[in-house]
Amino acid sequence: MAVLKPVERPKMECETEHFLMAQRQLDEVALEMGLDRELHERLRYPKRALIVTVPVRMDDGTVRSFTGYRVQHDVTLGPAKGGIRFHPDVNLGEVSGLAMLMTWKCALMGLPYGGAKGGIRVEPWKLSAGETERLTRRYTSEIINLIGPDKDIPAPDMYTNEQTMAWIMDTYSINVGHTVPSVVTGKPISIGGSLGRNEATGRGVAYCVKRAVEHYEVKAKAPTVVVQGFGNVGSVTAKLLHEAGYKIVAVSDVYGGIHNPDGIDIPRLLAYVSEMGRVEGFVGSKNVSNQELLELECDVLVPAALGDQINQKNMHNINCRIIVEGANGPTSTEADKYLHEKGIKIVPDILANAGGVTVSYFEWVQGMMHLFWTETEVNNRLEEIMGRACDQVFEMSTRSGLRPRMAALRIGVGRIAEAKRLRGLYP
Ligand code: GLU
Repeated sequence: MAVLKPVERPKMECETEHFLMAQRQLDEVALEMGLDRELHERLRYPKRALIVTVPVRMDDGTVRSFTGYRVQHDVTLGPAKGGIRFHPDVNLGEVSGLAMLMTWKCALMGLPYGGAKGGIRVEPWKLSAGETERLTRRYTSEIINLIGPDKDIPAPDMYTNEQTMAWIMDTYSINVGHTVPSVVTGKPISIGGSLGRNEATGRGVAYCVKRAVEHYEVKAKAPTVVVQGFGNVGSVTAKLLHEAGYKIVAVSDVYGGIHNPDGIDIPRLLAYVSEMGRVEGFVGSKNVSNQELLELECDVLVPAALGDQINQKNMHNINCRIIVEGANGPTSTEADKYLHEKGIKIVPDILANAGGVTVSYFEWVQGMMHLFWTETEVNNRLEEIMGRACDQVFEMSTRSGLRPRMAALRIGVGRIAEAKRLRGLYP
């Protein structure tokens, strides 16, 4: 079987540094697993990418245009699936790289989906609620031919939430002339959302932390945890780990972080944040910057904010035993390799934060069946799927000596490659 350097071809517009990082991960695992060269080549680029201009009437009466994207990396196993983010860093390369990660993530979890991602380049914190709604609705109508319950199903991601999904669902439904709840997941419960979806990503991360602590034999009675990010993922992870008896010694948000070696009272912090809008200044803790926070000594570090947080600049100062990636792409490839050599175990994003898309899948299934599950049922099924994926990744990584990221990719890429091989090439 020919397994060599990928064939040379002219650069594609999405090939930014961010995209190339995702592509290099694929190249590395393709080489390692002896992936067929032609299949490998087909998986190195997105299947479809749409760039749209989204004009919005602002509150002051002027019209501003924003750039939006929806990229489908692969649809071999089913409809494309992935979130929509509103952030100033959004560009074609980032969205394409994240869409590729979604393909591997869904395959690793055994979900019948391909991978997608979308986004709008915007500073969401500068928009009013009305501007955000008009932006979301116009973006939806611009990408409407791409999405649908059997085609491509968006969900929340950075700076989008249940309300965003409700607007997308409504805009899509008005345009097709009837209500289609299953065009998005992560909807509010009252319009067809699933119990447990809002907490699902954090719940999955917390579950992975527990499994990793067991597997890698962290002996402390109350393992210490540092969480970067206090949004939907970070705050739920901190809350659930605190409830499970872990000691959360530091957390942060966009404004900065707090540190208390004796452990932070997370329920009180949640109340403080809902009043003050930030974690800084919380009683009994000392303020730290986001960079200092990543270098604090702890058993488990959970980066649950932005991408590229642990990289060549700070990898020498990382002082934990295990990293569990709540965010997508928080560790650069160099740092991943370096930290693995140093004996730090990294539970990769496509496993650690897959609880979100897994419960998205449950939401979609419940919507199709018009039959809804209890929260306990949702959480139990989530644990079952996460548990199986953790076992497979830990087992393969231990058996083969691969970094856990490479083991997870190998399973995900292997499943897509097998499906592609069986389906063959049309025409
Ligand atoms: N945006 C989340 C992720 O990166 C969830 C995607 C989904 O639920 O489709 O996994």
